[in-house]
Order: sequence, then structure tokens, then C-alpha cells
Amino acid sequence: MTIHNTVSELIGNTPLVALHSVTDGVRATIAVKVEYFNPGGSSKDRIAERIIDAAEREGKLKPGGVIVEPTSGNTGVGLALVAQQRGYRTVFVLPDKVSETKRAVLRAYGAEVVVTPTDVEPDDPRSYYRVSDRLAQEIPGAFKPNQYSNPNGPRSHYETTGPEIWEATDHKVTHFVAGIGTGGTISGTGRYLKEASNGEVTVIGADPEGSIYSYPSNVHGYDIEGVGEDFYPAAYDQHIADAIEQIDDHEAFLMTRRLAAEEGLLVGGSSGMAVAAAIKYAREHDLDESQTVVVLLPDSGRGYLEKIFNDDWMIEHGYADVVAATSKPSLVD
Ligand code: PMP
Repeated sequence: MTIHNTVSELIGNTPLVALHSVTDGVRATIAVKVEYFNPGGSSKDRIAERIIDAAEREGKLKPGGVIVEPTSGNTGVGLALVAQQRGYRTVFVLPDKVSETKRAVLRAYGAEVVVTPTDVEPDDPRSYYRVSDRLAQEIPGAFKPNQYSNPNGPRSHYETTGPEIWEATDHKVTHFVAGIGTGGTISGTGRYLKEASNGEVTVIGADPEGSIYSYPSNVHGYDIEGVGEDFYPAAYDQHIADAIEQIDDHEAFLMTRRLAAEEGLLVGGSSGMAVAAAIKYAREHDLDESQTVVVLLPDSGRGYLEKIFNDDWMIEHGYADVVAATSKPSLVD
């Protein structure tokens, strides 16, 4: 009998699963690392744990301390989950465009949520960056993790995600594909896999069209969440990726819906983007049966039921083509 002491012990050691249907004739093995098996539902649990461990060690978080971070999604859940287990309080600052459902999730984990206006400049005192800076100064015992510059983010992937992939593939992984947000996942995991394989593993970044990583001169808005930036975060090591595949919202959302319908993997839009990038790369480079491509899927599709998996939202936002391509004729009149 195995009884875990707390859910934090279940962070990491997520499974690898081979894709079959959506690969449409690609000969290489494409295996996905399904991060929604983490207890908070995403890869961000890993960074939350390491960031909190390091802050305790360095004396930045003391008993009774408070974690303050501007985050709307997965990082907030990871931090809230680990913090509650260790007796810290959490305050998250979110722009008002973040849905009520996401706010409710954070509150459910015991966090306090502060909502700020979306349509103000980043240096306006009401912006979510400035409000979180101010709260981190004003609240006694406050610690601000800052996932965009905290080296413990990429370090957590270097110490856990990378070794897990290396071992689970019996050292046979040849390519690693991940989306780039803060850059922590690709930088830490990619660095480990390159070191372990003496530089043999090829690392491929997946980037939404409009983000800085693939075309710095053409930065504009896009609908995929959690990936892409309009600046280079310190957590991103620009020397790790050997190639960056650019994927647009349509390709990403189509693949996201296909992963749920054909592979039984209900994942988020950045996961669909990463798989689309892996398949595109495998085709462009004619990868064969001797290659094993591992793609990291950061989170679950449950957080996107009102968007990517909602036909009305998709059609209203210009994705009628994706809805048509993933609809089956009804069996019922
Ligand atoms: N996908 C989702 C849904 C995310 O929340 C994030 C983190 N922002 C990423 C991908 C990218 O991970 P990283 O920040 O490690 O680059």
C-alpha cells in the first residue's frame, strides 16, 4: 500500500504517451509528456515547488509569509497549492479580462485575488504589474516569485522534466519540442537533454504567430494562451533551441481539438500548438522510424471549454474552418 503524505508529492513523473492518429503518416515516434497529471493540473506545479523551496532556503519566505504574484493561470494554481501545504498565504493580481472561472479556481485553493483594469499601460499605477509590486512592498513577509526572471523555474525543469524524459525513453529521445512562454520549460529541459546526450538531442521551440521568439519584427496579438511574448524574459535561454516553428492560432486550435477527439487527450491550446510544431518539423526534416520526438503538453483542456471547445466562441472569433474540420455528421435527427 502506498499512501502519499500530501498531494505535493505527486508533482512530476508525468507519463509519456505515443500519438497515432493526428500524426497523419509521420514515420517518427511522436510521444507527448502529459503535464496535466500534475496535482494542480499543469507543468507549473514543478516551478512553484522549486521556487518556494529556494525562497525558504534563501530566507526570502519565512513562516507566516505571503506569496504575491501577477498571474492568472497555471502558475497561480501551482503556487497556491504548494503554499497552502506549507502554511503560506497567496495573493494573486489579475487583469479584469481573466474569466470568473479562473478567479474561482484560485480562490478555491485558498488564494486572495485582486482584480486590476486590463486597459491601462504597464507602468500605470493601476496595472497588474504595478499593483503586485506595491502589494509585495506593503504586505509584511511578502515574497514575489517573478516567474519570468526566477532561475528556479528553468532549474526545476533541468532537475525533473529533463531527467524524466531521458529515463522514460531509455535515452532514445532525439528531439524535444515545447512551447515558449517564460521560456523556463524549453531552457531547463532542453539544456538537460543536450547535456545528457552530448548534444545529440535537437530542441525545437513552438511559437505562436505574433510572438517575439520566431519573428521579432512582427509582434502582434494572437489567441493561444500561455505562450509567446513581446519581450525576452530572463528565464529564456536563447541558445538552447536549435529551431523555432511558428504556428498560427488556426493550426494550434485544430490540433488541440483533434488531440481530444482522436487521441483522448483533452489539453490546452499551447499543447495543440506544440504538437502541430512537432509534426511540421518531422515533415520538413523527413524524420524516420529511428527518431523519437517528445512533445511537452503543459496543461489540460478543462480551462478552455468556453473557448477552444465551444463552437459558438470559435465561430464568433473567426475559427469556423476549425469547427467545420472537426465536426462529425450527427447520428441523431
Ligand atoms: N502553456 C501554458 C498553458 C502555460 O501556462 C505556459 C506558461 N506560461 C506555457 C505553455 C509555457 O511554459 P514556459 O513559461 O515554461 O515557457
